[in-house]
Amino acid sequence: MAAKPFLKMGLRKTIGSGLNTRVWSESWIPDLRARPPRAAPQIGFRDPGILVYSFIRQDTKQWDVPLLREFFQPEDVSLILGLRPSRTCCVATCQNLTYRHMGSDKRCLRCGDPEESINHLLFLCPPALQVWALSDFPSLPGVFPSTSIYQNMSFLFWKTKEQDMTDPQKDVYPWILWFIWKARNEKIFNGKESSPEDTLIHAKVEAESWRLANQPEDDDDAHVEALPPPSGPDITIRGTADPDMPD
Ligand SMILES: [Zn+2]
Repeated sequence: MAAKPFLKMGLRKTIGSGLNTRVWSESWIPDLRARPPRAAPQIGFRDPGILVYSFIRQDTKQWDVPLLREFFQPEDVSLILGLRPSRTCCVATCQNLTYRHMGSDKRCLRCGDPEESINHLLFLCPPALQVWALSDFPSLPGVFPSTSIYQNMSFLFWKTKEQDMTDPQKDVYPWILWFIWKARNEKIFNGKESSPEDTLIHAKVEAESWRLANQPEDDDDAHVEALPPPSGPDITIRGTADPDMPD
């Protein structure tokens, strides 16, 4: 099965900033099969919330070796030292993508496209394309979705500024992106299919509950825009994962 070599590639070469990896529950130790670390004998309570980030010195962006020795078994410390903390603190989506693309297999595991760029998985992969087609955003050949991530993002951004899109529709696109990303992960890592209809419905429901939860008391729409973006994907697209991107 296509996903297999991909999953086996738990052997990362870099751990990024460590902000996205929980120390005790995630398989980040590059053993024969990636696995969670083994605690040093003196470690009693294993805080489930502790992140790999805590073991990286923020002044040097290098591992805090004495701290590693305190927490983990010596063999695991050696393995950890083989991982490279990234110097730039790139986050979530892009970082995950970059590390996933470090292997030899860059194909899209959903449709077989030779390269799964960010733009591909969010806009052009057939399941994603169908979500956009079902959405309130108009599909315009060559314009949206296009092969340029910048064009797609600016289309969504400017489209939402237009008068004819009512508020609930306006706010939905970050959720659509997020749920497309989640559906893609569910498929790749858990083999679970989500239909484009479900992806879109989930996005709309989440957008709506966020909107209700953040509704300004005086019903003044101007306040809505001042609110922070929803938690979820880091939609800032940067890094090297997308070949469409001029850098
Ligand atoms: Zn695809």
